[in-house]
Amino acid sequence: MTRSRRHFLRAVGAAGGVGAMTSLTGCGADSGQSTDGASRTNGTAPETSTGESTTTETTTATPAPEQAVDRRLLMEGTDDETPLVRIDAPEAGPTVVLVGGLHGDEVGGWRAATAATEWTIDAGSLVVIPKAAIRAVEARQRMHPEWGNANRMFPLDAEPRSPLGTALWEAVEASDPDYVVDLHSSKGIYSESAYYGQHVFRTEGLAAATTETIEYLNAEVVPDSRPAYEFTQAPIDVDYEMLVRKANHELGAETALFEVTEKNLDTETQVAWTTAYVEKLLDVLGVRAMDRSEE
Ligand SMILES: [Zn+2]
Repeated sequence: MTRSRRHFLRAVGAAGGVGAMTSLTGCGADSGQSTDGASRTNGTAPETSTGESTTTETTTATPAPEQAVDRRLLMEGTDDETPLVRIDAPEAGPTVVLVGGLHGDEVGGWRAATAATEWTIDAGSLVVIPKAAIRAVEARQRMHPEWGNANRMFPLDAEPRSPLGTALWEAVEASDPDYVVDLHSSKGIYSESAYYGQHVFRTEGLAAATTETIEYLNAEVVPDSRPAYEFTQAPIDVDYEMLVRKANHELGAETALFEVTEKNLDTETQVAWTTAYVEKLLDVLGVRAMDRSEE
């Protein structure tokens, strides 16, 4: 682990976030007890028959354990076959499920999520379903060709609509998420139209993290020359049968639905802004430090 990421984890733990249970052994934050071995004595220990002294490995000589990555396929063997990638960090922390591609023409979301499947994280788990409605993604169209609107397949307290809805829901449920984040894009801008672009819908448990995240986006990512593009947020106040509502209602996960705008914004910038949102949110949640410079 790099120095910058140690600092990140210590800061997250001190802030009392979800990652506060993380073991911070070696970070020197919690006791004055020596760990160098050489200063430890035990006069009652029996000597070995060979007379050889035993050596104690120092923790600093042990390389940091690597994250575990599990790649598998949902709906395997069908036209809806789509990847799921689970990344488990060696440090404890929250579990975040990241979904892209429920709407296939919303490129920023599924491209940003696809990139996240290759990330290294610092704590907790990141579960990514980058192209949830892969037939819609491959057709670059909003609607799934067989099941229609893939983000209306999740009625509360009822079975999901379609085999795809069931497979996605079972994967989210099995992940036991603390957070579920669903990435979208929109033709307009929420603050000036009926469209949802440049906006984050979130549950109450993600309000503070969303505030910190969009303050960063508005200060560092959205150009000063485009004030109308500043991100806003609000509670999830619609009754659509969306994944983020079902995950909050039935699993108790805190959830967010992110919408970048497509209005006069090229695809690469949509991807970049969506990626910046995910990176900052994961940083705030204590899963992955944004500063990877020492990696
Ligand atoms: Zn959408």
